Amino acid sequence: MQICKTLTELKQAIDVLKNNRKKIGFVPTMGALHQGHLSLYHRCKQECDVTVASIFVNPIQFTNAEDLTQYPRNETQDLQMLEAIGCNLVFMPSVVEMYPTPADIKIYFGTIEEKLEGKFRPGHFSGVGIVVSKLFHLIAPDVAYFGQKDLQQYLIIKMMVEQLSFAVKVVCCDIQREPDGLAMSSRNVRIAQQHRDDATSIYKSLLLAQSILLSHSIHEIKKSIEQFYYPHSALKLEYFEIVDADTLEDISNIGINQSVAICVACQLGNVRLIDNLVVNI
Ligand code: AMP
Repeated sequence: MQICKTLTELKQAIDVLKNNRKKIGFVPTMGALHQGHLSLYHRCKQECDVTVASIFVNPIQFTNAEDLTQYPRNETQDLQMLEAIGCNLVFMPSVVEMYPTPADIKIYFGTIEEKLEGKFRPGHFSGVGIVVSKLFHLIAPDVAYFGQKDLQQYLIIKMMVEQLSFAVKVVCCDIQREPDGLAMSSRNVRIAQQHRDDATSIYKSLLLAQSILLSHSIHEIKKSIEQFYYPHSALKLEYFEIVDADTLEDISNIGINQSVAICVACQLGNVRLIDNLVVNI
C-alpha cells in the first residue's frame, strides 16, 4: 500500500495509475476508521481496479473549534485497517499541504445546504465542497463512495458533480450500525459510558417514526418523537425532520411512490450525533 503525504507524490502515483488505464475508486474520510468506513472500501474494491483512500481532518468544515480539537485521530490503526482490506493508495496530507494559503473561496449550494445540518453548522458544506473538489481534482477518480450516514453531504456532492461536470460517478452506501442499532461513527468513541445506552434511542426514534409514518400526520409524528425523547434528558434533540429523500424539502403529506428521509441530530454530552432512515413508500 502506497502512502502519499504531498500533492507531488500523489500526482506521480495517480499518473502511473492513469497511464495504466486503471479504474480508480476513491473513498474520502477523516480517519478514525470503523466498520462503516470499511464497508465503503469493500464496495470500492469490488467495483474498481484500484482503491484510493484519503485521511484528512478538514479544518474548514468544522464550525465548532472544540469538535475539531477533540476529533478522534488514529493514524497507525487506520493504516493497518486499510492495509488489511487491500487498499492500494492512501493520501494523508497535512493541513498546510492542503491549504498552503487560507481557503478564501466559499461554495454556496443553494437551499439544500440551508436545511438540517446546514442550519446548525453554517459554512460546513462550503468546507466539505472545497475539500472534496480539491480531492476530486487531485485523484481524478472514476467512482467515489460516500455513506448515507451523511445523507445531506451525499446529496450536495452529487449535485456539485452534476452541475460542475466532474467526471466521477458518486455512489451512496448503506449505513452500518452497531448490534444495538447505533450508527457507527468516529465520534462514538467520545460518548461517555453513562450515555452509551441513551445513544441507542436515536435509532429507536427513527424506527418509531417509521412505524407510524403512514398512520399519522407529520405534526403528530413530531409530537410523538418529542415525547419519546423527553425521558432521555441526556439527549438534546437538535432537529428531527421528515423530508423528501432527494431534495430534503419538507413534506406535508406522505404519498405513494415517495422516498422519505427521517433525519435526526442530537447532542449527547459534548458529542454531536446524526442518523437517518430512508423509507421508500
Ligand atoms: P467521515 O470520516 O466521518 O467523514 O466519513 C467518511 C465517509 O464514511 C462518509 O462518506 C460517511 O458518510 C461514511 N460513513 C461514516 N459512518 C458510516 C456508517 N456508519 N456507515 C456507512 N458509511 C459511513
